[in-house]
Amino acid sequence: MRVIEKHTPYFKVLETLQKSKDCALCVLEKEAVHSYFEAFLYENVNDPGTRDALRESHGYCPFHAHHIAGFHDTLALSILYKDQALLAASFLEKAASHRNILGEWTHHPMCPACRQTVQIRHHYVGILVSGMDEPEMKEAFLKYFHHCLNHFLMVLEGLHDEGLKRELAGRMRERLTGLAGRLEQYCQDCQKNASGETFDSPHRLAWKEALEISTGQKGVFEPLL
Ligand SMILES: [Zn+2]
Ligand SMILES: [Zn+2]
Repeated sequence: MRVIEKHTPYFKVLETLQKSKDCALCVLEKEAVHSYFEAFLYENVNDPGTRDALRESHGYCPFHAHHIAGFHDTLALSILYKDQALLAASFLEKAASHRNILGEWTHHPMCPACRQTVQIRHHYVGILVSGMDEPEMKEAFLKYFHHCLNHFLMVLEGLHDEGLKRELAGRMRERLTGLAGRLEQYCQDCQKNASGETFDSPHRLAWKEALEISTGQKGVFEPLL
């Protein structure tokens, strides 16, 4: 068996798989993006290189702009959005009569937080995929099966063991068809209620699990896949 170096991120992924009731990769990704913003607000907001990069990308994308606003760091936000206001004013001065003004304005490098998110995503998926050679990681992945579909498919794509891929896909199919059955049951329970029976369906929240499988945890796959 190949011996992998069990460094901290390996254990972080393993422990999150074992402890979280949500998709572990969603949880890790959300934490890491949050830390990225904390570090930015603590250290980088006044750094000339960072401010130039944010001018080039026209600040953060709407999704990440609202994320960073949630930190309520009014000084950092004032520095950041002063640059953005001046940038937009200067653009209007030059481009007011351009035919494709919206296209010109929206043509810019990717939001730095989106770029960081993609890196974080690949980092954790890579750790999980290489860790699947270890029985404890494989066991945790199969036992605590809360994965969202997007992360699950990324892991599947990274694996080379065809037998394992089929086993995992089978497990996800079981989960999805079981869930579809519960959703169907809920629809039937609603009909019973509509026809006068008072019946509290145990499947009332199955849609939540289906939504989380389909889209991941709130705030993870927006706006990027
Ligand atoms: Zn996920
Ligand atoms: Zn973004």
